[in-house]
Amino acid sequence: MADVDALSYARASQDRTGEELSVGRQHEDHRTLAQLRQARIVRELTDNDVSAAGKRRRPDFETGLELVRRGEARVIIATDMSRLTRGKARDEVRLLELGLETGLHLWFVRAPDLDLSTAAGRLTASILIAAARHEIEQKSERQRRAAIQAAEQGRRIGGRRPFGYESDGVTIRESEAAAVRDAYEAVLAGVPLGRIAADWNARGLNTPQPKRDGSPSPWTAQTLRPTLLNPRYAGLRSHVTEALRETMDPRAARLKAIVGPAAWEELVTEETWRAAVELITDPSRHTGPRSGRGLLTGVGRCGVPECGATVHRGAAPARKGREGHPTYRCRASMGHVGRASEPVDWWVTEVVIGRLERPDAALLLADDKRPDAAKLRREARALRVRLDSLAGLLADGVLTEVGVRRESVKLRTKLAEVEAAQADAGRVNVLGPLINAPDVRAAVEALDTDRLRVVIDTLMTVTLLPPGRGVRFGQDVESWERVAERISASIVIDWR
Ligand SMILES: [Zn+2]
Repeated sequence: MADVDALSYARASQDRTGEELSVGRQHEDHRTLAQLRQARIVRELTDNDVSAAGKRRRPDFETGLELVRRGEARVIIATDMSRLTRGKARDEVRLLELGLETGLHLWFVRAPDLDLSTAAGRLTASILIAAARHEIEQKSERQRRAAIQAAEQGRRIGGRRPFGYESDGVTIRESEAAAVRDAYEAVLAGVPLGRIAADWNARGLNTPQPKRDGSPSPWTAQTLRPTLLNPRYAGLRSHVTEALRETMDPRAARLKAIVGPAAWEELVTEETWRAAVELITDPSRHTGPRSGRGLLTGVGRCGVPECGATVHRGAAPARKGREGHPTYRCRASMGHVGRASEPVDWWVTEVVIGRLERPDAALLLADDKRPDAAKLRREARALRVRLDSLAGLLADGVLTEVGVRRESVKLRTKLAEVEAAQADAGRVNVLGPLINAPDVRAAVEALDTDRLRVVIDTLMTVTLLPPGRGVRFGQDVESWERVAERISASIVIDWR
């Protein structure tokens, strides 16, 4: 092996045995060995990870692999295999597989060499790879079982500190928990996530995960979204399997992988959480830039027969001697409806106040149609338990694989229905504070547009008919009473 190109790899680690060699001493030994075998050391590689269990990457180990891959060295010299691979099965597999491809020689100061260009060396390497693979599988199997067991018991396994809780994931951090509860209410009331994030920042709250440079990281709509979607706030434990994680974003997967009640206390009811999730994830709620959003944007319907699309607000073009005024238009077709928004908004708000002021308004909350939250929660849990038990029934031979699949589809469909009903139950909460307010009119008028829009959407469907020919609502109309008369004839309100 005259003049073969070799890499000298040394790694510093904690002195455990008292026999640890310094990095300098390791390289020195390697040089001696190289000289003895007439090899030329083309590069001395040194990694400095102090902890053998640490997860830090070893840049020079990676460089070594790359140099071998590029054919710039055929030999790696090290003290022994564990010094080279850090005792990590994954690193060992990578090294040996590359070695088999390239016919690498591993020379060890304190162990027999491994020559992967010979049949015997290749056999040894294959056995080492198989053993390392087995170790990896066993380890991940153990981890997987531990994760499933923790999930079944509703326990949490490690991870970042969840906002609203201490780092044990169980103890509630009240300053943050209060903000979380407020946030869900705000979402249900239609407040955009960006504004909630700004509110949290104004309260001096930051994300649990600081920025890379260690400075606090303020909230944004983008970070708030996955946070509020987390089932943990409803006291639900989800278990995202590898398979699920491969097909979708892990944070989205959490929603699909709820396994049951968690071991920690919830911050909001499951109904509130589900209603909020529905609002946050429903793409039809994203109705464009906020500045242009009118009271009925995304909520009011076009009254052209067979259309039924939602309306949005834009400015009508200015005409001779007249300014353009904000106008509701059908989203589906410009030709369908064009209605000055101001009188419509005024009228609809009056209708809302009128409805909530009625003595029977409380019935809106006590209505038979109102979902029974506790009952739904019990149903959902029962369905999840049954879904869980399917695998057992298959194993016991009670059900065939086809039977399990059929049963699973049935149960999941039912569960989706129950979950939707839970979301409805959560939304009804919007009306409570208004109905119980001493002065309903003042309470309604104090709502901002976003909140009032949700109230309208909870109470009724508003359909805007195209105004008849020659009927125009504008500045030339003499009184609001007259407007009301005309409007009421061209707006259809269907109570929910
Ligand atoms: Zn239309």
